[in-house]
Amino acid sequence: MSEFTFKTVVLGPAAVGKSSLIRRFVENQFSTDYRFTIGVDFMSKEVEYESGKSAKLTIWDIGGQERFKFLRRSFYEGTNGALLIFDLSRASTFPKMKQWLTDMRSTIRGKIPLVIIGNKVDLIPDIGEVIDRNETQAYANKEESVYIETSAKTGDNVEKAFTELTQRMMKQFS
Ligand code: GDP
Ligand code: MG
Repeated sequence: MSEFTFKTVVLGPAAVGKSSLIRRFVENQFSTDYRFTIGVDFMSKEVEYESGKSAKLTIWDIGGQERFKFLRRSFYEGTNGALLIFDLSRASTFPKMKQWLTDMRSTIRGKIPLVIIGNKVDLIPDIGEVIDRNETQAYANKEESVYIETSAKTGDNVEKAFTELTQRMMKQFS
């Protein structure tokens, strides 16, 4: 049993892979059929943030769709940390992701740990780089965050992203 439980929210525009990353992390599974998240979903998982020590995350997934805006206040309430996701194959998702951070900050007070994620890194060999990595890295630095590229499809860096956030939450809240 872990001593700490942290509420973690997963934010970003539609179809960037929020639900897929959570599913990969919690169940180690991936599927290609797009199941659009209705309202809010949540799952939980223990994370070993340090050898022999773990914390429990409750991981909240929200549909990226604007029409669920009315749910956001209760969604953000009590949040300890956030994963901000954009899609490395669609440039427009990066500015939209920034908007999600602004939206969260207008709802909850105080700084919380963040991890910025460029997901679908597995597509880059085929489509090339569509978002400048210097820009995403600079943004993460400015937000006192870290930038990690993941693939829910291959599982690349998915554990790392959640573990990094858990370590940051332990530092801030334990
Ligand atoms: P959400 O709307 O942000 O929750 O996005 P989903 O998790 O539903 O994913 C949207 C689509 O992108 C689905 O068709 C997924 O199979 C696909 N997808 C998600 N993550 C990845 C990834 O890392 N690589 C690739 N190639 N496709 C992905
Ligand atoms: Mg979803």
